[in-house]
Amino acid sequence: MDQDQGSGSSSNWDRVVDVIVVGQGAAGCAAALEGSEAGAETLVLEKMPEGRDGGNTRVSGGIWFQHHDPEGIATYLRAMCGEYPVPEDVIRVWAQETQRNSAWIESLGAAIGVHGEYVPEYPELPGSEAYAGYLGIEGQMGNGRLFGVLKAALAARGIEVLLETPARELVQDPASGEILGVLVTSGSQELRLGARRGVVLATGGFENNAEMVRDYLRLTDVPVWGSPAGTGDGIKMAQKVGADLWHMDNMMTTLGLRAPGFEAGFYVAFNHAQGFLCVGMDGTRISNELPQVGHGQAVLNGSYELFPTSPMHVIFDEATRRAGPISPTRDELEVGWNVVIENYDWSRDNSTEIEKGWIQRADTLDELGPKLGVDGKALTQSVQHYNRSCAEGFDAAFGRDPDTLVPVSEPPFYGFTSAPMLGWSNGGPRRDEQARVIDALGDVIPRLYAAGCISSTYSWCKDGGMHIADALAFGRVAGRGAAAEAPLGLTSSDRT
Ligand SMILES: Cc1cc2nc3c(=O)[nH]c(=O)nc-3n(C[C@H](O)[C@H](O)[C@H](O)COP(=O)(O)OP(=O)(O)OC[C@H]3O[C@@H](n4cnc5c(N)ncnc54)[C@H](O)[C@@H]3O)c2cc1C
Repeated sequence: MDQDQGSGSSSNWDRVVDVIVVGQGAAGCAAALEGSEAGAETLVLEKMPEGRDGGNTRVSGGIWFQHHDPEGIATYLRAMCGEYPVPEDVIRVWAQETQRNSAWIESLGAAIGVHGEYVPEYPELPGSEAYAGYLGIEGQMGNGRLFGVLKAALAARGIEVLLETPARELVQDPASGEILGVLVTSGSQELRLGARRGVVLATGGFENNAEMVRDYLRLTDVPVWGSPAGTGDGIKMAQKVGADLWHMDNMMTTLGLRAPGFEAGFYVAFNHAQGFLCVGMDGTRISNELPQVGHGQAVLNGSYELFPTSPMHVIFDEATRRAGPISPTRDELEVGWNVVIENYDWSRDNSTEIEKGWIQRADTLDELGPKLGVDGKALTQSVQHYNRSCAEGFDAAFGRDPDTLVPVSEPPFYGFTSAPMLGWSNGGPRRDEQARVIDALGDVIPRLYAAGCISSTYSWCKDGGMHIADALAFGRVAGRGAAAEAPLGLTSSDRT
C-alpha cells in the first residue's frame, strides 16, 4: 500500500477528480455513467489499448436477463446460492437493480429487444418462474453491441477514459483507512491520481492469472474464452488495503480448444451433431458429456457441481466432422476473444483446423490414442462401450440423455485435448449491498467500491445473462455511492 503520509489532504497528486473508476467493462461503464449523472467528475482508467479495451463485456454475448418480480427472482437467487448464502441485503438490492437494467440501457439511447426464447437453466428451483428471458441491444447477441452502447454513452457525456493506463495500487490513508486515490502506470510515467470522493474497482476477473487460477479454482494450464486483461489486478489491490474475499472458487467453464499463436481459447460446442465423447487422461470416459447445465454448474448425480473441471480428450468421428463446425463460426455466434477481436472464422467442415494440427486425425482409434497421449486400446474400448450405449439407447455408466447418444463409429476419427476452458471467475473483494468493499473483520473500507466480475454476487449457481445484469446493477450502485461521498480536500499539481 502506498501509505499516504498526510491526513487525507495531501497535495502531491498528479491529478485529482471526484471518482476514479478502474476498468471499462460493463461494471466500470455503469459506475462512471452513474457517478457522472450524480454530478461527480469521473475518470475511467483502462489497462488495454483501443480495440482491445472493454474486457469480457466487449467479447461477451452482451445479453442480460430480465425479470418483473423482485421477490420471485430473489427466491431464485437464494435457491441458486444453495449452501453458500449471500447476505439478504445484497440479494434485495440485486433483485431491485437488475429489474432496472433494461430501462437504464434504454435511457442511454439504445434500442433493446428480446433475444430468442430462453428458459431458466434451473427450472426445478423455487422462483425460477420469475426468470423472464434474455434481452440484448436490438435483440441481438454478441459483436460488442452492448459495449458499443456503453462506450458511446461515456463519450457523449464527456467522461474521460485513460486507455493503456493500468492501475497498480490504491493509496490509503494510514490513519483513517480511507482510499484516497490510485497509482497508475501511463507509458513510462508513474502517476498518483487522487479521488476526492471514492474509487470503484471494476477490473473483471482473474482467469488469466495462472497462479490465482491454480490457487482458487484448482485448474492448471487452462485456455480462457474472453479478454486477456482479466488478471486479477483489482483483487490484489483490494487485498493490499485489507479487503476480505468472497466467491473465489466459483467460475464458469466450458469445453474449449487451445490453438498455437492465440492468446485465448476457442469455444467448442457440438451444435450440429452430438456424436462425441470425452475421456480422461487414461482414455476412460469420465462423465455425462451433456448434463443439464447452467453457467458453470451442471446437475450431476443429483447435485449441482462445477462442470467441466477435469482435463479431457474430446473424441468425434467423420460424421460429426462433416455435420458442421465444432466451434461456432462468426455468423453463428459473434462471441469470444478469438471471434470478436481476432476476427477468426472457424471452417464450416473443421478441415482448416484439422489441417493446422489443432485437431488430431487417425484412421483408427488405436492410432488416434497415442497422438493424444492416450493408450489406443483404452480409447478403443471406451468408444466401443459408448457406442453400445448408443445402440441400446441407454447410457448405464453416466445417464446421458438418450436423444444425444449418437455413435462415434465412422472413420477417420478425430480428437483434441481440452483443459477445460475458463469463461470467467466470480470471486474477489467481499462487498455489501452498497457495493462498498468490506475488510477481513467485516468493516467497510472507506471510499472503496467494487462491482462486476471482480466481486460478483454469485456464490454458486447462476443463470444466463445474470453476469452482465449483476455488473450493470452493482456498477450503478457503486458509482452512485462513490459520487455521494463527502469530498476530501485533495489538491493536485495537474501534471497530466
Ligand atoms: C465469451 C463470453 C461470453 C459471455 N456472455 C455473456 C452474456 O451474454 N451475458 C452475461 O450476462 N454474461 C456474459 N459473460 C460474462 C460477462 O461478460 C462478464 O461477467 C461481464 O462482462 C463482466 O463485466 P466487468 O465489467 O465486471 O468486467 P470486464 O468486462 O472484464 O471489464 C474489466 C475491465 O477492466 C480492465 N482492467 C483490468 N485490469 C485493469 C487495471 N489494472 N487497470 C485498469 N483497467 C483494468 C479490463 O481491460 C476491462 O476493460 C460472457 C463472458 C465471456 C468471456
